[in-house]
Amino acid sequence: MTHCVFDLFKIGVGPSSSHTMGPMSAAAQFADGLDARVHRVAVHLYGSLALTGMGHATDSALITGLSGWTPDRVDPDDAAALVAAVRAEQRLRIAGRHPIAFDAATDIHWHQRQRLSFHSNAMRFEAFDSDGGLLAERIAYSIGGGAVVGEAEIAANAPPGPLVDVPHRFGSGADLLELAHAHRCSIASLARANAVAEHGEADTHARLDAIRAAMAACIDRGVRSGGILPGGLNVVRRAPRIHAKLIARQERALADPLSVLDWVNLWALAVNEENAAGGRVVTAPTNGAAGIIPAVLRYYERFAPMASDAGAEDFLLTAAAIGSLFKDNASISGAEVGCQGEVGVACSMAAAGLAAAFGGTPEQIENAAEIGMEHNLGLTCDPVGGLVQVPCIERNAVGAVKAIEAARLALLGDGTHRVSLDQVIETMRRTGLDMGEKYKETSLGGLAVNVVAC
Ligand code: SF4
Repeated sequence: MTHCVFDLFKIGVGPSSSHTMGPMSAAAQFADGLDARVHRVAVHLYGSLALTGMGHATDSALITGLSGWTPDRVDPDDAAALVAAVRAEQRLRIAGRHPIAFDAATDIHWHQRQRLSFHSNAMRFEAFDSDGGLLAERIAYSIGGGAVVGEAEIAANAPPGPLVDVPHRFGSGADLLELAHAHRCSIASLARANAVAEHGEADTHARLDAIRAAMAACIDRGVRSGGILPGGLNVVRRAPRIHAKLIARQERALADPLSVLDWVNLWALAVNEENAAGGRVVTAPTNGAAGIIPAVLRYYERFAPMASDAGAEDFLLTAAAIGSLFKDNASISGAEVGCQGEVGVACSMAAAGLAAAFGGTPEQIENAAEIGMEHNLGLTCDPVGGLVQVPCIERNAVGAVKAIEAARLALLGDGTHRVSLDQVIETMRRTGLDMGEKYKETSLGGLAVNVVAC
């Protein structure tokens, strides 16, 4: 399946696309189908969702979703107030309609030792009438990047979302190269034509603008916001202090060409601190890895001599085309393949996007994407305290710098290289299969058990 640019970039809320946005959407879908007979609802969480959902604010996301809000529509500040009120009153308005009793402590069940077979991020929703009779039940999976599939869709082998007849179907890096040559166009042009087929020319342009604006706003908010991140790890937000330092030494820093990297680090940290605080972010392709693409895009906009709006659009379209390959042929879920599926994929997407914006050939772009993933293979997911903070925030800064390195390395060559993007995607998938469960967003291994969480 060829995924549209807007499947890869979604405006939502932090801290997690799979553990916050997915559950919120699934809860909203379930609540929307209920009628006035509903007296009580229960939610059962399994696998990774049960193990790290508490740190990823899954319970708050469920309350918000059951109340009728979706990640794209909810204001993060309003959501926080809503959740506080529901917790205090132990009542919520199901789908924003009639009130029912809801106590998150007893109506959300965390099955940490159970994993449903299709995916580690599983949810079961139940609705009961006043006699305790089951009115409705739905099993849904949060498969990464905020996407949700229901058991019925899986049984019918139906892809999530509407099927649109796009002009350029591609399922591999080889397909992308072949199409680009056959049509004598760039990878960005292929992705743009597909998006236009689905959304029209004006809407595609407006949506890309909105994504750029949301990414920029997230950086700027993160740079301004200090304090301690929620969750109990007492992680201090570093972005405002780093920003002040960079401004103070701006003149002197011109003598150090690598000072550019300090800015890239700052922008990535700013986004991921904002994400960890539950702010407005763009999944790119996930929330845990949301800082890489905005930081590299701003590097292009701020430091590339020939930067343009068209170049920035090409960046996003190319990055999304590469992300689509990972989503289809491997995974973008940390619970499925570890952090290589989040930070690794974002790095690969950003490298390809930057190479495209710099005018790289399709071969150089494919090479950049390949380098971006090759050196993230095997990256585990082991968030301390189940929070999207350590190692996630800093890992985005390192991933952003690595993406710039991958793009520049590819642009120094002519696109000829030994390992293809398709080979590296398949290697990532297999490495994910071989990876122990404790390294897949369960907080049962790695840094999560070697760093004391208080
Ligand atoms: S370690 Fe990586 S995959 Fe795991 S939560 Fe953090 S960013 Fe996401």
